[in-house]
Amino acid sequence: MLTAFYHPGYAAPIGQHIMPIRKFELVAEGLRDAADVRLAEPTPLTEDDLRRVHSAEYIAAIRTGEPRTLAESQKFPWSPELFPSVCLTGGGCLAAARQALRDGVSAAVVSGFHHACADHGEGFCTFNGLIVALDALVAAGEIRTAAVLDMDLHYGNGTAQLAATRPHLFALSLYGNDYANNVAVRDVTVRQHEDGENHRSFALPAGCDRATLFKTMDAALPLIAARNPDLMLYQAGADPYFEDPYSPLALDHDDLLARDRRVFEFAKAHAIPVAWVLAGGYTSDVSKVVRVHLNTFQAWREVYGG
Ligand SMILES: [Zn+2]
Repeated sequence: MLTAFYHPGYAAPIGQHIMPIRKFELVAEGLRDAADVRLAEPTPLTEDDLRRVHSAEYIAAIRTGEPRTLAESQKFPWSPELFPSVCLTGGGCLAAARQALRDGVSAAVVSGFHHACADHGEGFCTFNGLIVALDALVAAGEIRTAAVLDMDLHYGNGTAQLAATRPHLFALSLYGNDYANNVAVRDVTVRQHEDGENHRSFALPAGCDRATLFKTMDAALPLIAARNPDLMLYQAGADPYFEDPYSPLALDHDDLLARDRRVFEFAKAHAIPVAWVLAGGYTSDVSKVVRVHLNTFQAWREVYGG
């Protein structure tokens, strides 16, 4: 039985937007009939949780809407509903991380928000749910070390920056779009960022197929195994999918299902508890985004036996 954390309050009212915020609800609906998945509601993050990672000024901006440029730095229209919704999404990430320590594996039907930085948001990411969750578990003495495996299409710049000052964490990003100055950069042949001791990245070339993806994963995943983390958070992005408007990769549903299976096989083989979250996915037919995310549950079923 898998516990997956979902709350209808995850979705902030952002109007017509390329980010299909409805997808969380659609994925949850797709799970309601699954006898081996239990949907649970998380409690929201507290301001203390947020303050370990984000600046007081930025948190206040998200809560109050002022200054507006900071409150909308993640490129969402600000509304009074934004702050409670992002406290719930971060709470989902934390709840899944904690559940994974108990059960070995868990999920949050929510994004990890890997572009969010300490003092501002970027790329539809308000607060960095991954680092907030890990800092909360470290502060509570529940873990000492952790890794983030980011397989969203985009380079996880916020997570990398936040990891850089946290030597007990390790951030690994396999990306097919780079990310710099709050914009996605489709050409990955010129690197827009620098790796560090505990934040590493691997570019997936344009046209990347399953064989190239697996080759890259085989080079990258041992970096996590070498650190023997107490917990791994996995960003299972839907935007590497070949029809996604941002994606130059050649990965279809079967390829992404195989990706997820390989991640879970890795975690299981190394006895690393894993919590996964959803990440980007902008294909205009939202059912294709939802299918990528539901397939991650299928991969869990195949590897962990339901
Ligand atoms: Zn993305």
